[in-house]
Amino acid sequence: MTLARVVIADFQHGSLEVEQEILKGLASVEALDVTSEEQLWGRIEDAEAIMVYHTLKVTRATIERLQKCRLIVRCGVGYDNVDHVFARSRGIPVANVPDYGNEEVADSAIGMMLALTRGIAFQNSYLRPAGSSWRYEHVAPLYRLRGRTFAIIGLGRIGTAAATRAKALGMDVAFYDPYKSDGYDKALGVRRVEALPELLSQAFVVSCHCPLTAETRNIIDASAIEQMPHGSYLINTSRGGVVDVTAIPAAIASGRLAGAGIDVLPQEPPQEDHPLLVAWRDPKHPAHTRVILNAHNAFYSVEGLRDMRVKGAEACRRLLTGLPLRNVVN
Ligand code: NAD
Repeated sequence: MTLARVVIADFQHGSLEVEQEILKGLASVEALDVTSEEQLWGRIEDAEAIMVYHTLKVTRATIERLQKCRLIVRCGVGYDNVDHVFARSRGIPVANVPDYGNEEVADSAIGMMLALTRGIAFQNSYLRPAGSSWRYEHVAPLYRLRGRTFAIIGLGRIGTAAATRAKALGMDVAFYDPYKSDGYDKALGVRRVEALPELLSQAFVVSCHCPLTAETRNIIDASAIEQMPHGSYLINTSRGGVVDVTAIPAAIASGRLAGAGIDVLPQEPPQEDHPLLVAWRDPKHPAHTRVILNAHNAFYSVEGLRDMRVKGAEACRRLLTGLPLRNVVN
């Protein structure tokens, strides 16, 4: 029997034991480890399935080249980097892997919130220079979390995991998600808010957990931040394009935001002269102590990364053994 060809486009390199074990006897597996879409051309045309991580865009120009492809797997949740609409027009299903790191991302969002609202991140950076005065008052004022509003944008898998954690901290959990069916809020014991401005105006912490779509691009921009109370906090572990991060330095400087935790940026890695990076690096700017930046690592744990690989390869296995596909998004 001729083996099918499964190609891993980006992100994975080194041993492919995980994928090879799952696809044994069905497919050869090759990791191309490219950093730009053009590098795929000439190397993916005869693949039957393609696994794509989050570091690459797969546009029409690539999809048009595919002659045998019957599945594109986005090994991860967000599929905004794959032109899934065009793929469907060519009869190619796109499936994501929605269940590898839900808990990790929620833990990171809550971790960022605690590091900011408890003054942990602030003191860690404030005290580091030699000779700094060793006092608790630098963090003042901080406020008790119990009873304060944790405002979720997008109550899906990760938003829900963040909600249960925030509830355990005694917070009042509210959310805006026009697509969540009625009653889910009741089952979870959280409050639905019908309009985003209403949610923003009552938030102590806003945490973004929606996908990046035309509707959610820059859903949090300078004017949205203006609607949040003075001294509130912003967390984004969803997609970089959901928050206009250029608005953050001014919002921190004015005190509108007391802190921001940002795991994802519109461009990753960001340009060195990005205004948020410049402010965050500048010891004289309040963003230096009040902004936490991470490199899109909220998903990561040893177990989560393995799940992502296993579930991505299992999706290809389902295709090659004729089982119905799961998690098709187009
Ligand atoms: P999900 O599909 O389970 O949930 C998304 C929720 O957002 C849904 O309930 C949907 O109804 C809601 N939504 C859609 N449009 C909305 C809008 N206009 N306003 C408000 N809500 C809206 O997705 P998930 O698995 O919970 O993932 C959430 C986000 O986290 C995605 O953006 C995903 O790409 C991102 N993510 C990030 C990392 C990371 O490492 N930082 C890892 C995994 C996922």
